[in-house]
Amino acid sequence: MTFDPAGIAALDARDPLRGFRDEFQLREGLIYLDGNSLGARPRATAARIAAAVTEEWGEGLIKSWLDAGWSTAPLRIGDKIASLIGARPGEVIAADSTSVNIFKALAAAISLRPDRTVILSESTNFPTDVYMMQGIEAFSGGRIKAVRADPEAVLDRLDADVAVLLLTQVHYKSGLVRDMAEVTRRAQQAGALVVWDLSHSAGAMEVDLNGARADFAVGCGYKYLNGGPGAPAFLFVAERNQAAMPVLSGWFGHASPFAFEEDYRPAGGISRFQCGTPPVLGLAALECGIDLLLRADIREMREKSLRLSQLFIERMELRCAEFGFEPVFPADPKLRGSQVAYAHPHGYEIVQALKERDVIGDFRAPDILRFGLAPLYLRHADIVDAVERLHEVCLSRAWDKPEYRLRAAVT
Ligand SMILES: *Cc1c(COP(=O)(O)O)cnc(C)c1O
Repeated sequence: MTFDPAGIAALDARDPLRGFRDEFQLREGLIYLDGNSLGARPRATAARIAAAVTEEWGEGLIKSWLDAGWSTAPLRIGDKIASLIGARPGEVIAADSTSVNIFKALAAAISLRPDRTVILSESTNFPTDVYMMQGIEAFSGGRIKAVRADPEAVLDRLDADVAVLLLTQVHYKSGLVRDMAEVTRRAQQAGALVVWDLSHSAGAMEVDLNGARADFAVGCGYKYLNGGPGAPAFLFVAERNQAAMPVLSGWFGHASPFAFEEDYRPAGGISRFQCGTPPVLGLAALECGIDLLLRADIREMREKSLRLSQLFIERMELRCAEFGFEPVFPADPKLRGSQVAYAHPHGYEIVQALKERDVIGDFRAPDILRFGLAPLYLRHADIVDAVERLHEVCLSRAWDKPEYRLRAAVT
């Protein structure tokens, strides 16, 4: 890889995805390295939401449930997401939040393994994943145990008690990519089911759920899918597991919601994993993000994302080696998600100082600076610039200000 300015410009000029940046609202000068927390806004979303509000809701009113396809949006958008993650039509629903979908998937998995009592995860999994496990443990009166194992040894903990293994494909801090096919094979060999959290992989890299014989998966709509703040999440249930009885047995998952029957009777297929009325406006925004992604080649996205991370790492070695950043990303590019992360004792302050210089990354307690590298809208030149601004922050100790030490409620 060449790092002279002409080399970087050439990389951007040759980038097969270069046309996508203009599809997003991104101010020139701003370097947005947080697309793994909240994806940027597709330009098309504003007009789509306006139409959903003024025409579909304003004019169509309740008729829009049928006329504007509101009632089928969770399935329609689910099918589009399915094509991004190696699932078949009818295996994915766009609904609820990731946390709620984790609950639904775990509860369904437990019901398919009634003789087993353990939900297993790794101790460093994203907190909400672990919290949802703990909620199920409490609700079960302790019959179900939420067990967290050392990340390196989690597969060794698989035994005849484990009903379900919950893992995130790309770790939210280190970006480590798990081998989905191999982990799934090991878990299933031990008689367990697996729930994959795709929050940091869907829309950033190739995911092949059916190729890995995955059982369940969940993921976020507002990260790499660019679905907007609080976008609905998604839930994948492999066809063979769809007979599981939903615990969140809401009327939208009923076989015949508008028959208003007295008793719950689950719909066939993935529909039963819906719960209540779909969030129509959120789904409209989510669909814009997904429609945009569907126009891109996911293999090109992965290749570019790896080029961006390699460039970031090499620039850090060249420009910031003396400032005490400790890499916490996997050395092997194949094991690296679409992000890089470094530990630094002043990580929080440095992230604040960078924001003032128009570089937005994020901080993850206790000391991690995390930089998301969304390949659809970042340029190679942005990476070089971001590391230059980081170099300046460190060299001038611009981070060393009292106001940067006050922690905000959302980091
Ligand atoms: C972002 C993220 C979530 C978020 O869950 P919400 O219910 O959408 O707040 C869950 N799991 C992982 C691994 C995440 O990275």
